[in-house]
Amino acid sequence: MISKIERFSVHDGPGIRTLVVLKGCPLKCLWCSSPYTQNPGQELLYVKRNCQGCGICIPSCPQKAIAMDADNKYVKTDRSVCTGCGNCVSVCPNGAREISGRHYTSEELLHELEKDAVFFRRSGGGVTIGGGEPTMQAEFVRDILFRCRRLHIHTAMETSGFTSWTKFSSILEHLDLLYMDIKHMEEKKHIEITGVSNRLILQNARNASEHNEIILRLPVIPGLNDSEKNILKTASFARSLGKNILRLELLPYHQFGEHGYDELERTYTLEKIKEPPDEHMKRLQEIARTADIEVAVGG
Ligand code: SF4
Ligand code: SF4
Repeated sequence: MISKIERFSVHDGPGIRTLVVLKGCPLKCLWCSSPYTQNPGQELLYVKRNCQGCGICIPSCPQKAIAMDADNKYVKTDRSVCTGCGNCVSVCPNGAREISGRHYTSEELLHELEKDAVFFRRSGGGVTIGGGEPTMQAEFVRDILFRCRRLHIHTAMETSGFTSWTKFSSILEHLDLLYMDIKHMEEKKHIEITGVSNRLILQNARNASEHNEIILRLPVIPGLNDSEKNILKTASFARSLGKNILRLELLPYHQFGEHGYDELERTYTLEKIKEPPDEHMKRLQEIARTADIEVAVGG
């Protein structure tokens, strides 16, 4: 189940890359910039700025999930009964409704990826699997990476690392480069901001670092995980994993994903948090470097 395929990406590994964004994620990070990838199934998106409030979509819904809003100006959808069937999408004359998520077979996806092979070859790029959490579709990911490797396409994956070691290791053997997020070093805080413990993630990072080259990433969210103590602890952890950790990337929080919450008719809870200033990021970079590892700001 794929949310989208992004071509010509230059932030998800070396060279020009094609990023495959999978659906489904067991974490619920408060700052998630792609909330439409959290649900593992197909999901309705509503682009309010395109809606004319004509109401044509209302009778098309077999679940009776759509109604006019309190002001009778737009429509609202009861997400608890919406099945993502897509009936309302096809009748909307203004393109205000769409379905996120589409099933691909391995063959279909590989066919799409091979179209970009010439760019991969010329730029030293390749395919990156991201999400969502790609390990939720471990068998599919493993198959795609195996086939890419057979075609001499460089492979990378972006993951939270929140998965069983059995699944994780079955994918790692087909990977050239692994990106892993470390969102907080303290378990209690990690649960607060992502909904899950970090124990499995840290153990998987330790195991993976024995054989795979890894770039660790810390999304820097002001007030949630950007204390000097946490930055230094994360950098020291990265250092402890040895030479296969290529660098630690500090990714400054941004608000680009906010509209994604609107399209899902969900509330974005971090709207008061501002993007961290450059000086703050530089300061955190200096602190992290004291752990004697390479640290970059941004991806
Ligand atoms: S059919 Fe489209 S434009 Fe009309 S109310 Fe429904 S979403 Fe809005
Ligand atoms: S996707 Fe289907 S179930 Fe959901 S609101 Fe549209 S018509 Fe109703």
